[in-house]
Amino acid sequence: MPRTVRQSSRRAAHRQAAAGDRRGSGWWHQGVRFACQGSGNCCVSRGAWGWVYLTLEDRRRLARQLGIPTRQFTREYCEKTDGLFHLIESGPECMFLAGRRCTVYEARPTQCRTWPFWPENMNARAWAAIAAGCPGIGRGGIVPVEEIRRILREQRASTARL
Ligand code: SF4
Repeated sequence: MPRTVRQSSRRAAHRQAAAGDRRGSGWWHQGVRFACQGSGNCCVSRGAWGWVYLTLEDRRRLARQLGIPTRQFTREYCEKTDGLFHLIESGPECMFLAGRRCTVYEARPTQCRTWPFWPENMNARAWAAIAAGCPGIGRGGIVPVEEIRRILREQRASTARL
């Protein structure tokens, strides 16, 4: 669902979050209450929040979902900025958002599946900022720390493959 910060600031935030995680004293280490409310807010750009980055695995999965070759998907749906593939952005809304619904939900990109547990979000200030736009934060059950760590690992691995 989500759209990510521009890559330069994202890498810096990634390093900070990784350092905080290693210290083991994160505010989220007791778990965090989160349940997606289906608002679609995280599929719309706001200010510094921008692109949906895609690994090769993401592009292959999306191409399969759309029934077209990966090369065609890349040509028609992606552009490359600073060497990194992302969905073409022609407006604030993601091209796959229809109303509040993701039309490629089953094959959605990794960063959409891992939202909001991204390394750059795992500090109190960033979390408060994203909570202002994400009604799922603070709702539902507690996501346990082990699950948050697993999602963070998945997101970091995906970022490394961009
Ligand atoms: S791919 Fe789907 S989940 Fe991801 S930003 Fe676009 S509409 Fe949202």
